Amino acid sequence: MASLNDAWIAYQKGAAIATPQLGTNAAASSSKVSLSAASCLGSKPDEEDEEEQPLRTPPIAHGFRDPADDSDDDGPINDDAEEWPKRQHPPEPVRGYVRPSFSRILSADDTNDWREPPVRVEEASWQRSPRSPTVTWLGHAGAFVQIPWATEREGAAGLLFDPIFSYRCSPSQLVGPARYLAPPCGIDDLPPVHVCCISHDHYDHLDYNTILELWECHQATIHFFVPLGLAQWFKDSGIPAARVTELDWWLEALVSFPADGSAPEAVDSTYPPPPDSAPTVNPAAALTLKVAFTPAQHRSGRGVFDHMTSLWGSWAVGVVGSDNAAAALKPGMAGWTDFKVYFGGDTGYRYATAPENDSTAVCPAFKEIGQRYGPFSLALLPLSTGSSLPFLRSLLQLSLDQYTLTSSLHCSPADSMQIHSDVKAERSLGIHWGTFCDAAEARATRVEFGRARRQHGLSKHWEHPGEQGSFVITDVGETFEL
Ligand SMILES: [Zn+2]
Repeated sequence: MASLNDAWIAYQKGAAIATPQLGTNAAASSSKVSLSAASCLGSKPDEEDEEEQPLRTPPIAHGFRDPADDSDDDGPINDDAEEWPKRQHPPEPVRGYVRPSFSRILSADDTNDWREPPVRVEEASWQRSPRSPTVTWLGHAGAFVQIPWATEREGAAGLLFDPIFSYRCSPSQLVGPARYLAPPCGIDDLPPVHVCCISHDHYDHLDYNTILELWECHQATIHFFVPLGLAQWFKDSGIPAARVTELDWWLEALVSFPADGSAPEAVDSTYPPPPDSAPTVNPAAALTLKVAFTPAQHRSGRGVFDHMTSLWGSWAVGVVGSDNAAAALKPGMAGWTDFKVYFGGDTGYRYATAPENDSTAVCPAFKEIGQRYGPFSLALLPLSTGSSLPFLRSLLQLSLDQYTLTSSLHCSPADSMQIHSDVKAERSLGIHWGTFCDAAEARATRVEFGRARRQHGLSKHWEHPGEQGSFVITDVGETFEL
C-alpha cells in the first residue's frame, strides 16, 4: 500500500493520471548511443520576415485525444477533449489579471508584428539526413535541434530541450494551466533523440508524462542531461541511472556517438569516470559533443516543500571538431568554430526593481557564458512576458505586480536581446511564449518583440544575420536551417 510519502512523490511527478509502465532496465541492452567517451571535465576554470503560409492540419500528439475521435485508445492524458487546443488561438476569454495592452499600433511597427493569428502551429517535418544543423520550435520552451553526423552514419544527432507535449503544465492533467496550441507533432514522430537537456524542474519545463513517453519512444538512443539535484527524479521515474547525467553550473561532459549507428552498443555506466582515467576524444566517432551546464537567473521547485532543492540553469552544447579535439578536454568552448547552441531555458536578466535602462543591475552570468563558450551559432532565448505569468498566478495565486515578477525571474523581449548580445549569438530564436497563453498575450509578446528588435538593431533575416546577429520568432513546428 502506498505511503503518504509515495503519494506525495507521485503527486509531484504529476502521476495522478498516468501510471508509469516502464521497466528500469528495458533499454540497457538495446542502446545505440555510446557515452563511452563521456567524461566529466568539471574543473572549475580560473578564470521575421515570416511569409504567410497556408495552415496545414497538425497531427494529434500522441497521448492526447482528438476531439473528433471517440475511440479510447492511448489518450489518457487529456480529459478535456472538448478543450483540446487547435492550430490557432480560440476566441479570447476575459481574464482578471493585469497585462500590457497593445491596442495601439505605432507608426514604426512592422505590419508583421500585428500578424493574425500571432502564432500558428505547422506540422513539423524534418529531413532524414540534413546537411547542416536545423532547429524547430516545438512550442513553449521546447526546441529540437538536429546536427549532421561527421561520418556516413544515417540520420542526424537529435538534441531536445525542455520538451512538453502534455495538455497541462501542472502536477495533474485535470487541473492547472492548459495549452492553447497543440504541439506540432507527437513524441513518437520526432526523429531519434540522442540528447535531452532539462533547464529546471518547473512543470512547464519538466513534464512527467513527456519524459515517460520520450523514454518509451527513444530509449534506444536518448540520454538526459539535468541540473544538480534532479537525477533522482529521473531515476524515480524509471529512467536508468546510466542514461542520466547531472551537472552543476560550469561543469561539462563529453558525449560521443559511434560511427556505425546500426550496431547496438552498451551504455557506459561509469559516469563520471574514475579520477585516474584520462578523458579522450574518439577520432572515429560519428560525432562528439561537449555539453555544459551554465547559470541562469531563476528558481526551482515543483511543490510546497522542494523550493530551490535542485538547480536551474541554461545549456551550452558544442560540436567537437577534428581540429579542436585537444581543446575539448579543457574547460570552455571559447572561439570554437564548429556548430554551438545555447539554450536559455527560463531566466530573468535584470535586478527585480531596476529600471530598464540601468545596465549595471543585470545578471552577470550571460557575459561570462559568452566569454567561456561564445560565440554561438544559435541561441534559444525565452521571451517570457505573457507565458509564465498566467501559469504562476493560477498555481500560486501570486499578487506580485507583473513588472517585478517578469523582470526578476523572466525576460522581456528587450532583455532577451541583451542576452543575445551577451552570449555572442549569431542567430537567436525566441522560445517560451505563445503556447500556454491566449492570443492577446501572444500578440503582446509579438509586438513587444518587434519593437525591441528594432531598438536593438538586430536583423530579422535568418539568412543574413549581419553584424549584431539576427533574432527571429517563428510559428510552432517551423524548421530553420543554419
Ligand atoms: Zn521556470
